[in-house]
This record gives sequence, structure tokens and C-alpha cells, in this order.
Amino acid sequence: MATPSSQDLTCQELVELVTDYLEESLAAADRERFDAHLAMCPFCTTYLDQMRQTIRALGHLPRESIPPEELEQLLGHFRRWRHASPP
Ligand SMILES: [Zn+2]
Repeated sequence: MATPSSQDLTCQELVELVTDYLEESLAAADRERFDAHLAMCPFCTTYLDQMRQTIRALGHLPRESIPPEELEQLLGHFRRWRHASPP
């Protein structure tokens, strides 16, 4: 299931790739897309920060995937932020 490297990441794709990113095991092209998404997405920037804090607290990367309801909650916060703070 290869995707064209020119395609932008979605927030969900970024969340799925975040452990690989933090382990520096992403392919260069994916890492580039990851960084490009981070540069324009405050939600994912915050998410990455939270992930780093989690790793610091646990002492290692959490290997289990994000529970869907937790992801939905995070994305819900993001939608509210966008409503609360227009560009
Ligand atoms: Zn995002």
C-alpha cells in the first residue's frame, strides 16, 4: 500500500508514524512529510510534545497504538482550538 511521497500527511497518519519518527526509523521521504506537516499543524506539534513527555515518564516508547477514543478526543480538542483562535 504505497502512497506517493508528494502526498501530504493527515493528522491520523502522523499519529501512526510518531513512534517511528521518534526512533528515527522513518524513511527520509516520510520524515520530510512528517516535518512538513508539523510545521503547519499545531495539534501534531502538541501531540509530539506530549509523546516526548510520555517517553520521558515511561523511559521508553509506548509500543501499543493510540486508543481510537483517545485519538478522537485529541482531534476534538484540536477542532475546538481552531474555532477558538482564528488565524
Ligand atoms: Zn496534524
